[in-house]
Amino acid sequence: MNMTAKKRIAIIGAGVAGMAFAILAARQGHFVHVFERRPQTGSELGAGVTLWPNASFVLKQMGLLDEIAKVSGKPKSMVRYDQHSSDPLNQAFSEKSRLAIHDINRQAQNETYSILRRDLMAILFDALQKTQAHIHFSHPVQAEALAQLKTEYDLVIGADGRMNSAARQNITSALSAESSVDNEAVYQGFINVIGISQSPFTLVDKTVIQDYWGDGERFGIVPIDDQTCYWAAGWVSLPKRKSHPFFTQKDLMHRFQHWPKPVIDVLQHAQGASINTIYVHDVNPITSWHNDNVLLIGDAAHAALPTSGQGACQALEDAWTLAQLLPEHDDIDVVLQQFQAKRIDKTTAIQRTGRHIAQTIFHTKPSDRAVDGSISQTPSHAIANFWMSGLIPSNV
Ligand SMILES: Cc1cc2nc3c(=O)[nH]c(=O)nc-3n(C[C@H](O)[C@H](O)[C@H](O)COP(=O)(O)OP(=O)(O)OC[C@H]3O[C@@H](n4cnc5c(N)ncnc54)[C@H](O)[C@@H]3O)c2cc1C
Repeated sequence: MNMTAKKRIAIIGAGVAGMAFAILAARQGHFVHVFERRPQTGSELGAGVTLWPNASFVLKQMGLLDEIAKVSGKPKSMVRYDQHSSDPLNQAFSEKSRLAIHDINRQAQNETYSILRRDLMAILFDALQKTQAHIHFSHPVQAEALAQLKTEYDLVIGADGRMNSAARQNITSALSAESSVDNEAVYQGFINVIGISQSPFTLVDKTVIQDYWGDGERFGIVPIDDQTCYWAAGWVSLPKRKSHPFFTQKDLMHRFQHWPKPVIDVLQHAQGASINTIYVHDVNPITSWHNDNVLLIGDAAHAALPTSGQGACQALEDAWTLAQLLPEHDDIDVVLQQFQAKRIDKTTAIQRTGRHIAQTIFHTKPSDRAVDGSISQTPSHAIANFWMSGLIPSNV
């Protein structure tokens, strides 16, 4: 039985981590206020998200999986194609490896879903609105306001993402008194141009995630159904300059004109308004996510590159783990310490994997790539065990 006192909780950021934790904490009866700098929910990070079995586990525990399933795809395999011709006018690719998603699902006893980010955010927001939590849009929280929140609330959650997190700044400036800690997000030398495509006819095989690896370039296609998919083009790009270019459908059609037909088809059906250019950053792992009553979760704590495929999944795991700890301990210090102890090894490993895969795709010649540059060569039970580690059903 939950005997702990109800707490006043401020959450900075209404992204995946902030909203998921707000829902769980409010349902436990805590007094929750969410502060979001944007005028509404949403995020620039990716047109869609693959919710691997660990994310499905959390969403099932939250009672949201049925709604997620209604609007999601159910990919059964992920096929990686590598370029094997250096002729720029004939970019021939062949299958290099195949990840049996259905097998991972079976081992993990949870499904994998592909969902448009706007649908995921809408489902989370709808669930949040059914609670007593208050959400304040157009309300950025910077250093001064954060100091104020620390005095007004029992717990302040920094879920303000990977770029310029005010909460991370607060933690790292406390840490840097002991050691040298860099707070800045780290540009990893490549960009992603992301988008959504839709056709009145069959556009993609709805069971297969297609992942094309070229020479310093990549194009990934994730189906939602056979007429709709989201995709990400990536390529090596110089360090971010003050004014950096954004890329259009026309630019992409030109860059990928000699790539395989599925890439061309998807680009031809791209929805212009969905296209966005992201200069891809992650953060260096840090040794502590908390100071006083402030705790980092999600990307603010451990942003991994999109090549890890796990950022949103880990954000959900954070929310779930923290919500499980809250009813167990009255002492916030204990909650924060235990949260970090439970989560930091897994998220640090995922950050490292993301960098390793990015290095293999963007900075290794196709001819020099080992097949294990992707996770496809890892046995499915090992992937399932790792992704499901630390997730135990509960009544929270
Ligand atoms: C190109 C790309 C593709 C990706 N694809 C995938 C994928 O397929 N699968 C996957 O699992 N992950 C993916 N990710 C990672 C995933 O998007 C993130 O890990 C996930 O969104 C993290 O959630 P979060 O809530 O921590 O941060 P976010 O979703 O970024 O949310 C942070 C929120 O905080 C708000 N905020 C920021 N600063 C302030 C402030 N000062 N005051 C108030 N509010 C503030 C922001 O507006 C935002 O709403 C991708 C990332 C990138 C870059």
